[in-house]
Amino acid sequence: MIIKPIQLKVSEEKTVEITPLALQRALFIFVAAAAVAFMCKKTVGPGRSAIRAIDEKLLAIEFDSEKIAVYVGDVLEADPRAVPKNASVSYTWEIADDGILNVKGGRIVAAHSGETLLGVTSGDISANVKVIAKPKPLPPESTLPPLYYEKLVIANYKNTLSADFVPKNLIKIPDNYTAEDYYGIYVSAETFDAYKKLYMDMYNEIHGRMHIISAYRSYAKQSELYNKAVRNYMSQGKTSTEARALALNTTQTPGNSEHQLGNTIDVSNNTSTDHHYQDTPEGKWLAENAYKYGFIIRYPEDKADITRIDYEPWHIRYVGVNHAAYMYVNHLCLEEYVELQAQAEEEANDYALHNPATPD
Ligand SMILES: [Zn+2]
Repeated sequence: MIIKPIQLKVSEEKTVEITPLALQRALFIFVAAAAVAFMCKKTVGPGRSAIRAIDEKLLAIEFDSEKIAVYVGDVLEADPRAVPKNASVSYTWEIADDGILNVKGGRIVAAHSGETLLGVTSGDISANVKVIAKPKPLPPESTLPPLYYEKLVIANYKNTLSADFVPKNLIKIPDNYTAEDYYGIYVSAETFDAYKKLYMDMYNEIHGRMHIISAYRSYAKQSELYNKAVRNYMSQGKTSTEARALALNTTQTPGNSEHQLGNTIDVSNNTSTDHHYQDTPEGKWLAENAYKYGFIIRYPEDKADITRIDYEPWHIRYVGVNHAAYMYVNHLCLEEYVELQAQAEEEANDYALHNPATPD
């Protein structure tokens, strides 16, 4: 059990700090009281009046479980039980982190995602419960600004990753998921977990062929690919400047490729990774379903002017289901979404500045 100082609001005006020691004492009282209640039930005989006299005094407060989950924006349904049941109570609530839970109009509302302790007191009896506030899953037609609870890292023509950036949790993709001759590909563990679900459902629904041909690429590897693309255009008679500009349509300069993030996958159906992929059964399925598994088609056809990358119906980026669903239903590319996240954060900070969190 977490024991840390929490702000105990005895009344609207007066606030006292509960130290871990005081909390421990309160917990001890809680346990002792529960034990007394238990013993009384077990050992006190049929002398009714004696039982009633004890029952009317509050001995403990209990919650149904150790933690309560709530969505951000929703009213918290905390239902403490008095022990004994018919004891009279007058509850006062205490919130350890009032950035996560707020009191509004006498109700406790989840303001931000996170975890906090919620304490309840009646007289000299206290109890607390862990509250986990989670972002609400977005309804499909939602036009609300996205929550910025988790910022997405972006690597593109203007956001450059350093040469030594290597993602954590890289794992080697089992050979049965990769295309032939594309062995030894690495990807982040969470990305691969999501991909496995996507793959299984795709296979069950359309029996398609979907093989991984690229995922994590180191800075050095990207450098190699870019230089190769440039050399290729130069061998066709382009000048160095022309060749570099042309190469940028399909290949990013080192540090500017998403593949360095480790949460990006290129798939193939054993034909080629070109625009025709969108017309294949696998390409169609991917476009319609990737978001359900937390993936986005990173370079959509009509967003090339924003992403500065030509349409790539085979390139998926893992961002998690909430973000992916929001981008899918609102038809946004990652650049637009990250911009929206930044705006939402700015608005929220501005709101917090002008509306200090005070219980009303
Ligand atoms: Zn790619």
